[in-house]
Amino acid sequence: WPSVHSGSSDSVRSSESISEPGVYKVMLLGDSGVGKTTLAGIFGGAEDTFHHEAEQPEATYERNLLVDGEKTTLMVYDIWDQSWMQNNCLQMGDAFLLIFSVTDRSSFQRLPGLLLQLRAARPHRRIPIILVGNKGDLARSREVSVEEGCSLAGMLSCKYTETSAALHHNTQELLEGVVRQIRLCRDEGEH
Ligand code: GDP
Repeated sequence: WPSVHSGSSDSVRSSESISEPGVYKVMLLGDSGVGKTTLAGIFGGAEDTFHHEAEQPEATYERNLLVDGEKTTLMVYDIWDQSWMQNNCLQMGDAFLLIFSVTDRSSFQRLPGLLLQLRAARPHRRIPIILVGNKGDLARSREVSVEEGCSLAGMLSCKYTETSAALHHNTQELLEGVVRQIRLCRDEGEH
């Protein structure tokens, strides 16, 4: 990996934030309990993150990153579990993480349907979509293998990665991967 510096700042913002250059919205999708909120907190910089779940249900985490010498701000949205926000969520996102728990097969089986819903909502745009198998630390309760995750991602033409939010494993790499995918799609869109 090239050297990467990251800074983080805390905030909970309105979902109606204005798109500025270099600011991208990343949506966390997936079943309840797979680790979206835990991952969002890490993405936001866990120790600085401010999370008012009770007062303000739409939780947004802001993260400033310098990846490959270019500054980017990611707004990470953890709003999927609020069903009335789901359509907004699909419309607003610049990138999507489809998260399941490797210890919960039903959360994995939900992904193809989730992807269909996403592609139906955004039929004309090439958008970065990454399948994420979380809870990789729970080896003894694993119900979905790495091979199955990779193979589904291949079939759905998405990237695949595994994380452990509990151990902060692969979380920074995932965030940088999202930034690179966003840039790739952006650059392809310009040609
Ligand atoms: P959400 O409903 O998708 O937002 O899931 P949460 O972030 O609330 O996580 C659900 C539960 O799983 C919580 O008890 C978390 O502490 C736990 N959890 C989340 N990620 C991991 C992980 O990577 N490993 C382990 N062992 N537990 C996790």
